[in-house]
Formats: sequence, structure tokens, C-alpha cells
Amino acid sequence: MPATPTNLLDLDRDGLQAFFAGLGEKPFRGLQVLQWLHQYGVDDFERMTNLSKPLRTRLSQEAVIVAPRIKQDHTAADGTRKWLLELNDGNAIETVFIPETGRGTLCVSSQAGCTLNCAFCATGAQGFNRNLTAGEIVAQIWLARRLLADADSPRPITNVVFMGMGEPLLNFDNVVAAIRLMLDDLAYGLSRRRVTVSTAGMVPMIDRLREACPVSLAVSLHAPDDVLRSELVPLNRKYPIAELLAACRRYVADEPRRKVTFEYVMLDGVNDSDAYAQALARLLRDLPAKVNLIPFNPFPDTRFKRSSPAAIDRFRDVIMAAGLMTITRRTRGDDIDAACGQLAGDIHDRSDRRRRAARRMTGAGQ
Ligand code: SAH
Repeated sequence: MPATPTNLLDLDRDGLQAFFAGLGEKPFRGLQVLQWLHQYGVDDFERMTNLSKPLRTRLSQEAVIVAPRIKQDHTAADGTRKWLLELNDGNAIETVFIPETGRGTLCVSSQAGCTLNCAFCATGAQGFNRNLTAGEIVAQIWLARRLLADADSPRPITNVVFMGMGEPLLNFDNVVAAIRLMLDDLAYGLSRRRVTVSTAGMVPMIDRLREACPVSLAVSLHAPDDVLRSELVPLNRKYPIAELLAACRRYVADEPRRKVTFEYVMLDGVNDSDAYAQALARLLRDLPAKVNLIPFNPFPDTRFKRSSPAAIDRFRDVIMAAGLMTITRRTRGDDIDAACGQLAGDIHDRSDRRRRAARRMTGAGQ
């Protein structure tokens, strides 16, 4: 019986070279296929014309190129585009493309669901099912590039951020394999500054990321003290702020001009007071930091509200006066629920969190 065909989207440069070596071919065939697959977005072996006819036939028997199925495709009034992708086991994930003048950012998911359960996040509320494979992560850029091919610019994706569903540093190996493809000159050729991993604060993995592929780092801080942060981001109980900031310092230590982005979701009456702004400024004073204020994006059944524009401006003014580089993120794709933290595919929740939450709310089982 023939072995299960290999999905070539799962393989990075080394993997493709090894795959062809395994077929008894010269490893450089792997580089040719890498280019066809990712640089040109070709998924038909017959179109890979620098491969011999017998090799193309062999590939069609031993390999496949399978990306998740596009279940929904929405474009918002501001041009933000959101895809709901169905994985082969029925789980769904979301990918968002955000066009801006001079650049286009693709926001990718790294897990189906998330284990971290941050208080203000729609994905967390859905529970966790599984890590995405490297192929499922890379397929998001592969698909988006093909689907955006008729857009104004031939290379519309200039930046990738791991700010979709999931905690990228809890799916370390697959995320790194996917990043390697994003950076590979024969694939997507993005510079490592244009790929950003956003983490809720997996301290040991921040160090490993620096060793494996030091892309840009964003950290979801959201509060300047451990009491409040532990409430908002439960992972803080394991890796408190002091340890997290030490890891951030190490991350950029070798590169004097690099900064870590600190994300701070603006929650009305929770973390948006002047006192918190001052505490945040003090906390980050000696770090190579920039702050990204994210207006909270509400979703059904959340207990939080977005800070008022005036409160966000005041908060920004306080931390800027302390010398911190700060930007307020514009909310994008509001009309299609494509904004930060609203990405909530259809998760087959093994942790059963949804059912437990529903029971809590109805008072059943008490
Ligand atoms: N697990 C990663 C990626 C999460 S999504 C991390 O925690 O960084 C990217 C950002 O969106 C994170 O900063 C996250 O805290 C933020 N976010 C989550 N839910 C949000 C919401 N409802 N409104 C605004 N930002 C949100």
C-alpha cells in the first residue's frame, strides 16, 4: 500500500530538500519546488515546468499540496479582509488581511483556540483544541497571497503578525518552521523585522525564539502590576511581570536599535486610569519599548467595555510625556468582526470550557 502522500505545504526548505533526497532526486529539486509553491503560488505539479515529466508524475503520486478550505471570505468597508478557514478535522481558524498605505499586514492564527483564557479575549472564551501544523500556519499566507493576487499590488503582504487565534509560543516548533518559510528568499522573502510574534508572556520560549529566529517581538502586557495582570492574563501567575520584562531585555540585548512592542488593551475603568498610565511609564522607562494601545473590541457576553476615546488619549499623553513611543491602534474591520481578539472560529473544544461556562451561567449543575 502506498504511504500517505506528503503535504508539501508542511515542509520548509530543509524539509523539501530532504523529501527530494528521499525520492532519490537531487536536493536542489526541493528548492525549485519551494519557489513554485511559495514564490509563485503554484499548486499544480504539471505547471512546475523545470521538473522532468516523470518527476512530476511521481510527485502527483507521492505528494499533495493541500491548504485549509475557505469557508467564508468577508471584506469590510475599510478593506480589511477576513477568511474563515476550515481545517481537515473540521476545526475553523481565522486569518485577517489589513491593507494600509504602503503596507499590507496579514494576521495569522497559530492554534485552533487557545489555552490561556485571557479575560478579555473571544478566542480564550472558546477553549482550545489543538496546535496548527506548520503547513496550516504557512497555508494562511499561501492562500492569502493567491486570493489577493488580483488586488492593486502584486505583492500585497509586506508584514505578518501572529496576532490571530492562539498563543504562538505554545506551538513553538511549528511556528518557527512557518516563520522560516516566511523569511526564506525562495518563499516569501519577508525581513525578520516584518514578522511579529505576539505572546502573552511565555518567558522560556521568548529566549528560545531569540535563539531560533529573532523576529520582532510583541508582548501582551495589559497591566503594569502583577495583581491586575494576573486577573487579565492568567499566565502572569506563572511568569510574573519582572521575569517577563527580563526576558524582553534579553531578547533585544544584542541589537541596540530594536524595541519590544508592549500591547495594552484599553478596558474602561479597569486599566485605563492616569495612575496605571504612570505606573506603566515607570515600568517601561528603562526598556527599549514601544507601546501599542489597543481599544478593546467587545464581543457577546463580555463583561468589559472599551475605554472612551478621551480616556485613551489621556492615557497616551501620560505615557508619551514620560518619553515612551506610543501608538493607538485603529480598530479595523469592525463591521466583519475582524478586529483583535474577536477571532473565534468554530472550535471543537476538547477542554469543554464552553459547556462549563454555559452551565455556570445558567446555574445548572451547582
Ligand atoms: N496569544 C498572543 C496573540 C493574541 S491576539 C498574545 O497574547 O499576544 C493579539 C492581541 O490582541 C493580544 O495583545 C491580545 O491580548 C489582544 N486582544 C485579545 N482580545 C482582545 C479584544 N477583545 N480587544 C482588543 N484586543 C484584544
